[in-house]
Amino acid sequence: MNILNIKKEFPVLQKKINGKKLIYFDNACTALKPKPVIKAVNDYYQNLGVCSGDRSSHHLSWQVQELVEKTKENVRQFINASSSDDIIWTKNTTEGINLIAASLPIRKTKNEIVLTTLEHHSNLLPFYEQSKKRGFEIKILSPNKDGTLDLDKLNKIITKKTALVAITHLSNVTGLVYPVKKIADMAHSKEAKILVDDAQYVASHKEDVQKNKIDYLVFSGHKIGAPTGIGVLYVRKGHLKNFSPFNVGGGTVQSVKIKGNNIYVKYLPSSSGFEAGIQHYAGIAGLDSSVNFLSNIGYQKITRKIESLTRYARQQLQNINEVRFLTNYKKQKPSSLISFYLQPKKLSLYDFNLYLNYELKDYIIAVRCGHHCAQPLHDFLGHPISMRLSFFIYNTKEEIDIFIKALKKFLKNS
Ligand code: PLP
Repeated sequence: MNILNIKKEFPVLQKKINGKKLIYFDNACTALKPKPVIKAVNDYYQNLGVCSGDRSSHHLSWQVQELVEKTKENVRQFINASSSDDIIWTKNTTEGINLIAASLPIRKTKNEIVLTTLEHHSNLLPFYEQSKKRGFEIKILSPNKDGTLDLDKLNKIITKKTALVAITHLSNVTGLVYPVKKIADMAHSKEAKILVDDAQYVASHKEDVQKNKIDYLVFSGHKIGAPTGIGVLYVRKGHLKNFSPFNVGGGTVQSVKIKGNNIYVKYLPSSSGFEAGIQHYAGIAGLDSSVNFLSNIGYQKITRKIESLTRYARQQLQNINEVRFLTNYKKQKPSSLISFYLQPKKLSLYDFNLYLNYELKDYIIAVRCGHHCAQPLHDFLGHPISMRLSFFIYNTKEEIDIFIKALKKFLKNS
């Protein structure tokens, strides 16, 4: 797969919308889907369309089971897990975090959850809600004003009472990459676990759960070109043992018995015990294909290209007087996204967003404008909203030039 010629693999990028070409810079929200993924989803419905052989026993169901097992193995390799049974299907990152918050073993003497102000609402609210039900306490570390984390402060907040440190690997607002391996070491030295929110990181960087000593990892298929509705929760071997049941029902049990009005259940001790009901087989087929698509390109090329686009966008934006970055990027390595606001305040990002959608002659430019589901971080940084440009493998420097030209024209006319 040639990364330079990759655009043609994405049908949405070949279409004209109201006679205009699409420039898509909203990849941190979700990535566009390549042809092989669309084909894999279609193939499932065209050729299979049945449930897996762990339920039914017939020829087609065995084929679906093969597909599911093959995909788990593919995902295992993708994140370098030690076993495919460490992989649990979820709907998305959010569901994976909800599972951890609801099921993680908590003791009275070990009931603290450490979070940061950097987190997406999906890595805050599940813990907030469960803290009301499960009696654990939340401790929150704010970052430095430049978006980095003070690791000494973090080390002090993590104590012997900490059960879990939940942290993003790559912030969907600052775009900074956080040192999860060091944080894992800190957590483990106090016998705490680490949950890594990889929703953004895995779309631009190679993840390695063993190297980074990660206990729990979550990501969404749709941000790496797979369909919406399929996600991954990785749980390190042995950690599931004392988990409480989460979604339960068909497919999760070893045995169920009724005696009188009592129900007696033995749940499966493996990942299947947490995959209730019929699974999203078409999504699994699509995920398998998207993992292959990225692996065939290779993460070295993916990271290099996305970082280089981010660096270029930064350079172009910082030459514009009215642009202020949400955090100071000067010392930070570029990753995959960049967030900024405009000064003076009368220059509205929402107006600029409309301009990008309706006022350009030849293009529609899709960006994200708002708090990006990270309201506490925007509050902390003193700006309620920002505009975010986020890049994926099909973006180009020429597209960034078109965006910069549009911004300059908008500023001139404002
Ligand atoms: N965490 C981060 C860092 C994100 O950027 C997102 C989505 O943008 C999520 C979690 C939630 O992902 P999903 O909506 O796919 O569950």
